[in-house]
Amino acid sequence: MKLSNLPITLAILCALSMLAIAPLATPARCADSPAIAKVLASAPAAEVGTSTKCAVCGMKIHVKSDTPGAEYAGKDYYFCDTSERDAFIAKPEMYLHKPAAQ
Ligand SMILES: [Zn+2]
Repeated sequence: MKLSNLPITLAILCALSMLAIAPLATPARCADSPAIAKVLASAPAAEVGTSTKCAVCGMKIHVKSDTPGAEYAGKDYYFCDTSERDAFIAKPEMYLHKPAAQ
């Protein structure tokens, strides 16, 4: 094998691995859910000082300016830490117990 072929071989392997990963990274129901969860930079000021429930574990939390938050379908949700927020962002329907599309 010629050494000059190595970059091409790597490029092909890279392209193949991306093709293999793409279907996993794109949820099948993506087109059915127009609402996309997005991370809020900080808790909305109006909500600071109120108490609410963590949208993931249900623990009671007091909203502070640095409370991890996310917006989904026009509503704000709060979490006790950023790892739970990230889990919610990845699968909001799972935590909202929404029934599957009818
Ligand atoms: Zn929690």
